[in-house]
Order: sequence, then C-alpha cells, then structure tokens
Amino acid sequence: MINLEPGSIKLKADAADKTDAIRQAGSLLVENGNMQPGYITSMMEREKVAHTYLGNGIAIPHGLPKDRDLIVQTGISVVQLPAGVEWNPGETVHLVVGIAAKSDEHIEILSNLTYVLDDEATVARLAKTSNPDDIIACLTNRGSNGQAAVETVASDFAKFVDIAIRGKAGLHARPATVLANLAKEFQSEIRLRYGNQTANAKSLVSLLKLGVEGGQTIRLMAEGRDADEALETLQTAIASGLEDEEEEQNPATLGHTLQFESVAIPGIAASPGIAIAPIFQFKRGKMVFEATAKDPQAEMTRLRQAVETAKLQLQDLYAEVKEKSGTGKASIFLAHQEFLNDPELVEEAIAHLQDNRSAPWAWQQAYEQRANSLQQLKDPLLAGRATDLRDVGRRVLRLLADKVEDEPSLPHYPIILIAEDLTPSDTAGLNPELTLGFCTAYGGPTSHSAIIARSLNIPAIVGAGPAILNLEDSTPCILDGESGNLYPQPSPTDIETAKAAQKDLQAIREAEKLACYQPAIMSDGHRVEVVANIGAAAEAEQAVNAGAEGVGLLRTEFLFLNRSQPPSEEEQLAAYSEMTQALNGLPLIIRTLDIGGDKAVPYLNLPAEENPFLGVRGIRLCFQRPDLFKSQLRAIYRASQTGPVKIMFPMISTLEDIRSAKKLAEEVRLEVGADPVDIGMMIEVPSAVMMADEFAKEVAFFSVGTNDLTQYVLAMDRGHPALAKQADGLHPAVLRMIHQTVQAASAAGKWVGVCGGIAGDPKGAVILTGLGVAELSISIPSVAAVKAKLRGLSFAKTQDIAKRALKCRNAQEVRALL
Ligand code: PEP
Ligand code: MG
Repeated sequence: MINLEPGSIKLKADAADKTDAIRQAGSLLVENGNMQPGYITSMMEREKVAHTYLGNGIAIPHGLPKDRDLIVQTGISVVQLPAGVEWNPGETVHLVVGIAAKSDEHIEILSNLTYVLDDEATVARLAKTSNPDDIIACLTNRGSNGQAAVETVASDFAKFVDIAIRGKAGLHARPATVLANLAKEFQSEIRLRYGNQTANAKSLVSLLKLGVEGGQTIRLMAEGRDADEALETLQTAIASGLEDEEEEQNPATLGHTLQFESVAIPGIAASPGIAIAPIFQFKRGKMVFEATAKDPQAEMTRLRQAVETAKLQLQDLYAEVKEKSGTGKASIFLAHQEFLNDPELVEEAIAHLQDNRSAPWAWQQAYEQRANSLQQLKDPLLAGRATDLRDVGRRVLRLLADKVEDEPSLPHYPIILIAEDLTPSDTAGLNPELTLGFCTAYGGPTSHSAIIARSLNIPAIVGAGPAILNLEDSTPCILDGESGNLYPQPSPTDIETAKAAQKDLQAIREAEKLACYQPAIMSDGHRVEVVANIGAAAEAEQAVNAGAEGVGLLRTEFLFLNRSQPPSEEEQLAAYSEMTQALNGLPLIIRTLDIGGDKAVPYLNLPAEENPFLGVRGIRLCFQRPDLFKSQLRAIYRASQTGPVKIMFPMISTLEDIRSAKKLAEEVRLEVGADPVDIGMMIEVPSAVMMADEFAKEVAFFSVGTNDLTQYVLAMDRGHPALAKQADGLHPAVLRMIHQTVQAASAAGKWVGVCGGIAGDPKGAVILTGLGVAELSISIPSVAAVKAKLRGLSFAKTQDIAKRALKCRNAQEVRALL
C-alpha cells in the first residue's frame, strides 16, 4: 500500500496553467525523494499522448513507462488548487494527484480515487479543505474497519468467460478506455467481476474502480441480444493486451540533448537515433475505379470476397511480422482483422451499393465515414484507430480498384522518409538499410508505426505538423529521434555534430549488444542453448551476430520456392556450405524439405488436395519424390564435411517414416563417403508424441515444431483466419505433449529442442525451459531478449512455473502465470 503523508500535499496552491500544475505536483515528488527531476519532463510528455484528467475535478499526471528508471520510490503527491486550473478545454482541475509508480502500485490509488470521483460533494470539500488528513483519508480510502470499500453484486450473468488481464500495469486508464469503448459497441449489458466487486464494462470509471492488477483473472459477463458476440470480441481484445504499451526492448539512447545551430521543426520523439540524409516524401498511389456499376448483386459478392481476401492477407502479414519482430509488434494486424470481422462495417458498405454504386465506391464511403468520426474524438488513442481503419480500408479498396496510379516506389538510395502518417502496413515494409529515419506530420509516439520503428531500430519523429510536407524532396536533413527535432538544410557544423553523435550512439549500442553473446546460464547454473531459426544463407551470419549459438532449424524450403525448377545438388551444397562457414564451428541443423500443407511449389505439379495439412507434405512428399530427397541428402552430407551439420526430418508420424528416412540417408551417406551425422526428427504430430519412447530409440534428438503440433493437437488450421488466433502453443494440451516428449527422450538419454514460435515468446521460453527443453530455436530478433530473460531466472523457478502450467485449463491461464 502507498503511504500519503502531509508532506506530500500542497494545500491552497495556485497554478498559472496545466504545465505549472504538473510541475508543482512533480516537484513535490522530487522533494520527497520519490523521483528524479527528469520524470517531470516525462509527465509533460505523457500529456501529449494521453488524457490524465480522470473526471470531477481530478487529474493524475504521471510519466511515460519508458522513463520509469527515473523513479526512486513509488509515491504520490497532491496539489490542491481551490481556484482550479484548465486541464483540457472544458475540464477544470482542483486536485492534481501526481503519481510516480515503479510498477503497478498506482492501480490501488486509481482505484481509491475512483470512489471519490463519483462523489461531487467530497471532491468539492477536498478542493477547499485546510486539513491534509481529509485528503489522506479519502485517497487511501480506508473505511472504519480499515478495509477498502467494495461494491458487490448478487449474481453473475449466465454467459461469461474468465480471462487474465495482460500487461504489468493491469487495467489502468489506457487499456480500460479501450475496453470500455469496445463494450459500448454492443447493446448487451456487459459487466466485469473481480473478486467480489463488479463493474459496468462500458464505464471507464467503473472499470478503474476494480483496481485489477496485471496477471489477475477477471470474469467477463454479458446479457442481451449480442451477448455471445460481445464476449468473443472483448475476450479477444483482452487476450491481445487491450493495446496497452508493451514491454519493448527500446533501442539505446545517447542520454543527452544535442545542440544544433540550424532551425528545427519540432515533433514528438518516437524512436531514438540520428539520421542524416536527403528527404523523400511518401505518397500513396491513387486507386482508380468507377463509381457506378450495373449489377448490384455482383458488386455485393465482389465486396464480400475482397474483405475475405484482405483478412487472409492480414493473417500472412501477422505471421511475417511475428517471425521478424515478435507477437507484440504483429498483433496490430490481428486487430486489423477485427475491423473486417465487424459485420456492421460490411453491412454499411453494402447499404451504399444502392443506386448502382460500385463496390469500391461503397466500401470507401463506409470506411471513410467511420474513420472520420473516429478521428474527431479527442482521445488520441481512439483517434489513432482512424489510421488503422484507413489502413485496412485501403487494403480492401486496392483489391476492388481497377488500377492503382502513381504507385510510390521508394528510391534505391538512403533517405529520410517524410509522410502525412504511416500505417502499420507501410512501416512493416520499410527497409532500414535505405530508410534511415522517418518523420510524420501526424500520429503519436504510441502509434503502431512508432512501435514498429523502434523494433526496426529506425530513428523516427511523429506529429511534426503539416509544415514538413512542404519540404522539397532531396532537401538534406538531420533527424534527431531522441529530441524529436528535424533540421532541414543543416550547416556543415551541424552535420559534424550529428556524425559524432551517431558514432557515440553506435559505441553505446555495441557495448549493450555484447550482452547478447553471454550464454543463457540461469542463476542456479542450468544452461539452455539458444539457437536461431533461419530460412536463407545470409541469415546464418545475422544469427551469429545476434548472439545465437548456432542454427536449430534451417528451413530448406527457401531454396525451392519462387523459382521454376528445383535447385541442383551443387547449388544446395553452396548454400549449406556458406552457412557452415558463417557459423564457424557452431551447429547447423538442416531440416529436409518440408513442402506441402501451406507451402506450395508450382513446378512440382503436386495435385490439389482437399486437406493439404493432412496430405502429402514434409517427409511424405520426399518419399514420393526420391529424386529431390536424395539430391538434398547428398548436398547435406557433402556440406557436413565443412562444419558440424545435423539432419532433421519433418512431419514424421509413424515409425516406418523415420526408419525409411534414415535408411535412405544412410544409403546416400555411403555413396558420398561422408562420416555419420546426428539424425533427429521434428515432433509435430500427436502420434509422434504418443510414441516418443519408441522414436527416441531411433534418433539422436527431437525438435518440437509447436506451430504444427498446436494445429494438430487442437485441430485448428494454423492459417485459418478465425481459428489461428486461438491456436496458442501455450495451451496446456500442447504443453502436456511437450512434457511427455521430454520425459520419453530423457529416459532414453536424448535431448529435446523446440523450434516452433512459442520458443521465442519470452513466456514460452520460460515454460519450455521448466519442462526440461534443452535447446530453444527462435527467430533472430528474439535471441538477445530470450537469453536475457533466462539469465534472470533460476531453473528451479521455471520448473515450478512449468508444473503449474501443466495444471492450467487453458492458454490464458498459462499466460497469466507469468
Ligand atoms: C513448426 O511446425 O513449429 C515448425 C517449426 O515448422 P514450420 O513452421 O516450418 O512448419
Ligand atoms: Mg512444421
């Protein structure tokens, strides 16, 4: 519990304006040793991106999560302003409650404050009182029995789901706003139960009152016409984090402000770093289409099809960004899918088809009208959703348009990109080698484009105003992503300063990066091998540079895709040898061709299958095409003479599979005259788990492909637009399968790795380690974070978590354990 002492309260104060009021609340916190002065600036920054006006004359300024290291000890301060100060137009504040919270302790204060909020008379009294104890009593909200007051409701609705609130900070203002606004879209009555308190999910204040902390489970219930739909939507939103600020691995900063002599265009700092380059303005292509059409029925079908196709595209984009930058960064594309799942949006578009309007015209009307009304909302978070909606809208429109004119193509030389705003789809496609920085006229630092910029390490400024759009292409500029300033036409001295700062920053980042080479040795000495999944020859070097201790999965399909005939043995040998060279003695596990299922290769002329995931894929295809299989095995054995190579077979489901594969491999080895190498298999099919004790006698190691194992265990197609989201590899059913695999393997003295997506999810990495998995093979960008996460824990702790995970009833419960 947080203490509030009289020394933290300033009575009868006056504030010239909001900034002055925040400064006073912040200074009290600094004087009381709660935080360093820099956090006051952070409090001001927060005001640019979020509302801290709580209602009824109370505001709660607090800094940005990234600056939490400036907090010394959690505390609050109160500045009483009897005359009030204008916070936002039409909002007068009498009590400024400054919050410096190291983690989520401020939730309790928010919760207590909301009890006061409902009560105008109490706030009026506190605004004038000359006794600090009055304020202390109310804000610490202790009743005569010393317990916080609670509101109880007799019974729950018949329809409900129990779900954990993600994020360290719990249900604080930002996620609660998102939840309340989502809830308001439904007619049903929607309530949240937390312990014995309940809240109306459509009321922000009511939600905040619950004081739900991160990881806690709430009951979400609904009653009414659209109750099922409401529960499904809200459950998905809660599970994907309610757009809360994620724990980001922020790029390192210089830590001091650079001084330039040139005139700056100020914006909001979104991603640190310095870029020096000519600018180039990003413009979108013009969609060309007829406004009218003859056959309304055909237009309606076209529209529905385009929406479905766009959903599939978003599913692919999600998978791609998840592989590159992790689930958090990718989840925006799931949110985009949600927009398209909204039947009202599609119905609105269909309504616009009357009077022989065309599908693209009608669709554009529907999404633009919605985006415009979102944009007018004062809440920057909700206004930010307009950008997302337009992004999705254009995605569908592109599918409906006759052609796209003036489609932009970025130059092939380094630039600083200038744009009105960048959508998540735009940013995900940027190449950091050529786009050295970007600066947008609109948007905020918590926009998804800013988050993606940070993950790609591109210096960025947002919200610099429309003036930047008047700068001519090729104007030389310096972009300072730390101060948020853009300097057009910099002087030679400024360029020197910027170059020196770039060097300093690089030195800082290199020092930081060195930590990624430290092995993942846990606090009690247990070591986990952290290796990378790669799909291209050049990635072997990138993996080593990122701290990977080898390659745990080489997806050899990359050699076979996007071409008109299969690669020759020599071509494959060259690719594998390039990798062994880059790995310089570190292990390389080469998975033999895994084609079929969702990975199509047109030149193989494979017959279409009704159930491709249950059809001739992976090893089954290799048996049907021994020509392909043998030439690949020859190349692998030849490459094994250049470095430590292991072979791994995909999609093994029967003992006959592994025996035949091994037999063929042995024949090839003898032909080539190579030494034996370790042979392992993927565990991707439930039958392989159930028979793991038998398989363990056949191979040197197992590597669990949780992407496929999850889809086969839960019977949910991993690419299905509606089901893929539920196919969570942390489902206890999947974890129990992995547990069984590890037990069978260790009884036979064999080791188990995991190369599916959950191994790179920090939570997944912890649980898998606890289950006894010895090797985690993950995407390159996740290597440093997973190693650091494991170094900070003991094996015993992860074993305890894993034990509890095995007893959970669903994936949400598992995720809530961490
Ligand atoms: C898996 O299934 O988890 C796996 C790693 O293989 P892929 O994703 O290539 O099917
Ligand atoms: Mg697989």
